[in-house]
Amino acid sequence: MPKPRQYGGFAMRIIFLGPPGVGKGTQSQKLVDTLDIPHISTGEMLREAIRAKTELGLKVASQMEGGRLAADEIVVQLVRQRLAQSDCRNGYLLDGFPRTLPQAASLDLALAVDDEAIDAVLNLTVDQEELFRRLMERAKKEDRGDDNEDTIRQRMTVYHDMTSPLIAYYEEQGVLHRIDGIGTVEEVFDRICHVLNKVE
Ligand code: ADP
Repeated sequence: MPKPRQYGGFAMRIIFLGPPGVGKGTQSQKLVDTLDIPHISTGEMLREAIRAKTELGLKVASQMEGGRLAADEIVVQLVRQRLAQSDCRNGYLLDGFPRTLPQAASLDLALAVDDEAIDAVLNLTVDQEELFRRLMERAKKEDRGDDNEDTIRQRMTVYHDMTSPLIAYYEEQGVLHRIDGIGTVEEVFDRICHVLNKVE
């Protein structure tokens, strides 16, 4: 099985893009384990803040109700603080961020200050029906507050309206890679490794 080579000395900054339920979480975990880089999931960070009832958590809880997005400036600030930590120096995987064009632009600006840029954007895709099926299945297993039929539909609409324009944005930058998300976890992971092995 092809594995991404070790980027000794090179930072690999990766964004995982894709609709809710596409398998980003599973594939992200495998990838960060293989590349030994931090997994930065804004969904996880926000849920953690809500659980811990921090000031930020209290603020975003109502914003996120019903599958809507947290405010750009809050999420951008959260990510910038995280990326400033020393474990991000050798690269990282962003999962669930950016989710809007303003978030992507802010990220690019923040990186440019240090002469950095995103190396690869992985756009994981599966068809609409399979997506919905996977999400409903996860809802049964995980009891996540935002996994019920109405919020799932809402999150898909939000993805379509707010996040999918990022595909063209990164395509223009020449860093977008499409990955077919249908198949076993291993098959999909092999495709990702194959793509990353070609990234300079
Ligand atoms: P998904 O299963 O859709 O990948 P996530 O765990 O990434 O879900 O995110 C869950 C929720 O957290 C989103 O529906 C949204 O409300 C909020 N969220 C996560 N990332 C962002 C972001 N970059 N901008 C705004 N809201 C976000």
